[in-house]
Amino acid sequence: MPWKDETRRRQKDVNYYYTHQEQKIANAARWNREHPERVRKTMKKWRSAHADDVKRRNMDFQPRSREMHKIFRHEAIVALGAKCIRCGFDDERALQFNHISGDGYKERETIGKNYKTWLKSIAAGKRPDIELTCANCNMIHARENGFYNRARIKP
Ligand SMILES: [Zn+2]
Repeated sequence: MPWKDETRRRQKDVNYYYTHQEQKIANAARWNREHPERVRKTMKKWRSAHADDVKRRNMDFQPRSREMHKIFRHEAIVALGAKCIRCGFDDERALQFNHISGDGYKERETIGKNYKTWLKSIAAGKRPDIELTCANCNMIHARENGFYNRARIKP
């Protein structure tokens, strides 16, 4: 019957398409791995040709990232009691994570993009070396213990 044949023919086409599609993707991936400099060049070209799209997309992402950052910071602050442990000041905007040992300057160099992970570890109670203080008490703590200069002069 012609109908049956037609269905089978279509199914064959579909199968053919998928098996070759997989192969095509695999080949493209291999080519990309073998020619990283060409890939970089093409991507650069694409980005400059679509500069507006890229810019808009970045603008879309950044506020979301800032929002997430605020949320993680808030959670870390709450986990540490939500107020300065020295004077009780509780306006989040001027609360800081104080390194009790004064080693904050060392860690600041390595946190960078991992800031959110760092905040999460505080929120999870994994950082007994960090306490919550206000900006004033943080500075006084640093001055009293001689951390102030150490924090600003790189070893
Ligand atoms: Zn304080």
